[in-house]
Amino acid sequence: MMSSISRKTAIKSLIATVASVVISVSIVLLLVPILGGHPDGPGFWMSVLCPLVIAGPASTWQFHQQEQIARARDELASTHRALDRAHRELADLHTALSERARTDALTGGLNREALLGVLAQHSHAESGTCALLLVDADHFKRVNDRFGHLVGDEALRLIGRAMAVCLGNRGIWGRIGGEEFAIVLPGADSVSALDIAEKLRLAVFEAGLTHQGLAVPLSVSIGIALRRSPFDATDLFRIADANLYRAKNDGRNRIAVEGAPDLRYRSE
Ligand code: GH3
Ligand code: MG
Ligand code: MG
Repeated sequence: MMSSISRKTAIKSLIATVASVVISVSIVLLLVPILGGHPDGPGFWMSVLCPLVIAGPASTWQFHQQEQIARARDELASTHRALDRAHRELADLHTALSERARTDALTGGLNREALLGVLAQHSHAESGTCALLLVDADHFKRVNDRFGHLVGDEALRLIGRAMAVCLGNRGIWGRIGGEEFAIVLPGADSVSALDIAEKLRLAVFEAGLTHQGLAVPLSVSIGIALRRSPFDATDLFRIADANLYRAKNDGRNRIAVEGAPDLRYRSE
């Protein structure tokens, strides 16, 4: 069904029709005398009428169609733009969602799955070293019991911030359990791993968290394991965990490293 004719189409059709009539009449006035006839009477009026009834509707139809096509093209282009926008928004949303799926909501570090993924990646590397630091808050149940869960949460956020500051861009950290964190240090040797661990241990110990004027005692124990790539990630985790256990048993607020006794670091 034909939609209503626009003013622009009507004007253009009128001009085309008038032009057709003028051309038709001109041809008749020029050609008929040459052919020996008289350009008058019904012949003349036919030269007026024919373009009127043919060119009028035909040009109206054509201009109308042109306009419809242009409008459809504009609508298509704007739908395209809207689709592009939606696409970009969806991609941004996807990025934000995958970022959130990898992030620990409380501390802003990686969550367990994401951090283990990072460790697995490094375990498959063809060369280089990788250290794993397991960091566990000491006597954290006591912190919760004495100061409440919200203060406990604040303490966990503080540990997270201390990790971010001590690490800079030298490694990747995350929270892998309730009050347990882990750090992956690609390219580290035992000296640099110990250095970071000690910085972190001191940063937490000296953070000076208080609640209602009372000092919240906060410290971490750290177990370290180090391997040359490629390595077995489960094995590395098991050794770091064993060292963490050793650091806890030896009195907490300290660091334990596998290997020779002189690598074992203790600090009060
Ligand atoms: P240890 O020095 O041997 O590690 O002692 P611990 O008390 O830290 O260890 P334990 O495993 O006995 O208790 C861990 C506590 O951590 C218990 C739990 O309530 C607390 N915890 C775990 N996740 C969260 C959390 O998200 N927020 C808070 N506030 N506490 C948490
Ligand atoms: Mg603990
Ligand atoms: Mg624990």
